[in-house]
Amino acid sequence: MSTARPGVVYLVGAGPGDPGLMTARSLELIGSAEAIFHDRLIPPGALDGAREDAELVYVGKAPGRPAVAQEEIGELLIAAARAGKSVVRLKGGDPFVFGRGGEEGEALRAASVEFEVVPGITAGVAASAYAGIPVTHRDDASAVAFVTGHEDPEKEESALDWGALARFPGTLVFYMGVKRLAVNAAALIEAGRDAEEPAAAVERGTMEGQRTVVATLGTLAETVEREGVGAPALIVVGAVVERRETLAWLERRPLHGRRIVVTRARAQASGLAATLHGLGAEVVELPAIRIEPRIESDEVRQAVAAIGDYALICVTSPNGAHLLFEALAAAGLDARALAGPGKAGATAGTIVAAIGPGTARALAAHGIAADIVPERFVAESLVESLANVDVTGERVLIARAAEARDVIPEHLSGRGAEVDVVALYETVREQPDAEAIEAAQTADYVTFTSSSTVTNLTDALGDRFPSTARIVSIGPITSEAANDAGLVVQVEAERHDIDGLVAALLQDVAG
Ligand code: SAH
Repeated sequence: MSTARPGVVYLVGAGPGDPGLMTARSLELIGSAEAIFHDRLIPPGALDGAREDAELVYVGKAPGRPAVAQEEIGELLIAAARAGKSVVRLKGGDPFVFGRGGEEGEALRAASVEFEVVPGITAGVAASAYAGIPVTHRDDASAVAFVTGHEDPEKEESALDWGALARFPGTLVFYMGVKRLAVNAAALIEAGRDAEEPAAAVERGTMEGQRTVVATLGTLAETVEREGVGAPALIVVGAVVERRETLAWLERRPLHGRRIVVTRARAQASGLAATLHGLGAEVVELPAIRIEPRIESDEVRQAVAAIGDYALICVTSPNGAHLLFEALAAAGLDARALAGPGKAGATAGTIVAAIGPGTARALAAHGIAADIVPERFVAESLVESLANVDVTGERVLIARAAEARDVIPEHLSGRGAEVDVVALYETVREQPDAEAIEAAQTADYVTFTSSSTVTNLTDALGDRFPSTARIVSIGPITSEAANDAGLVVQVEAERHDIDGLVAALLQDVAG
């Protein structure tokens, strides 16, 4: 693998829509190209990894606007390459399957511009697979044909030989086939294909909200019309469609069809959102808070300068862990600053206590294996776990949020420690955007991972709070905040971390 070369055009397939189905090669080229010419049907976030200075040019069709003409696209690609740029031409699915990649390659060759082709997963294979329809099967289909359902209207004669397609011994997969479905199906039946043959339409294959309708060749057009199936959709005709009864998997995922609101700060939300998405949920991100780092304050600077003097450092959140190391880095330090002479019973250096497994993982990312990690993720458990650490007369650092509870510092002071409480960040209210609030109205669940998300979200939404959603809380303190805000908590995690919250949610869904 290698990055995009200057003066070269890469004809790249972006896959069928699920960002996870983009190839490693496509991501590498998107991340290194100086210019990217893309279509509409590319996965959400496909361009997130592009260079900040990359030129991003949309050349696809848009409703009510003429598409950039094919020749013009060719000229744009040629001009960019000749200007010495590395160029990615990004298309949905595979560039050579009904993607006009062939024509673009020909134009580039004619202009003596070097190009490479990066295949993508084509919708015909991917949408079918996500619908639980294998396009070939030992018992049902030894061949598969990819067919266009929408021909160039300027063509005088149909290039499709309906007789041959009717006799084709295998699965027929139609791209661009929804608009002309009734006409095409009638032509196939007229030419001798069995009207009773199973047929399916897969709408938005591999994307959020994928939908599959099943009928027969004779009735599919009517079904599609009735159900309002729209583009992009794929039509599959063949006995393999029946395999879906056994092989459908998407709809069987535990959280399929559930709309779940994630209220964490955006920076932290991705883990929870990805886990829920992977279980089939439709995730609405409604961040009620934002993390504002405070690592430039005097108290943080002083604590960092004296970091080696602390016998014990308590870190109370993953954010705290990351920001502590950012603060150390700002002072030209790293994990070695904690390796001072052994104190308070530690074998070497400062004892580091994490409030829970998530914080311990965040510390591990900076090279620190936490000495103390309580099972339960609340301040009281950390206090219990610290019982055997002799802190009398020792300096202790509590690295945490500005607005945290005082359980830990009070306890340690009570045991004779000299405690410095340092706020590494503040959580401030974030106003969720209107579109997300709208999407949240029909949510099945709203998840809360801290009391600050509860108070900020309920304040921010007021009577726009989704009243029919079930409330999921990470633990008793968050539940209390929810009760105080007038919400009824239906689901409370037994283990007070993200995994525990997901487990509780799954249990509730399973009933
Ligand atoms: N080059 C693309 C196809 C472009 S033609 C590829 O290889 O997949 C556009 C047609 O592809 C659409 O009309 C539709 O029939 C099909 N298609 C593309 N993405 C799809 C998706 N996510 N689900 C279902 N069909 C899709």
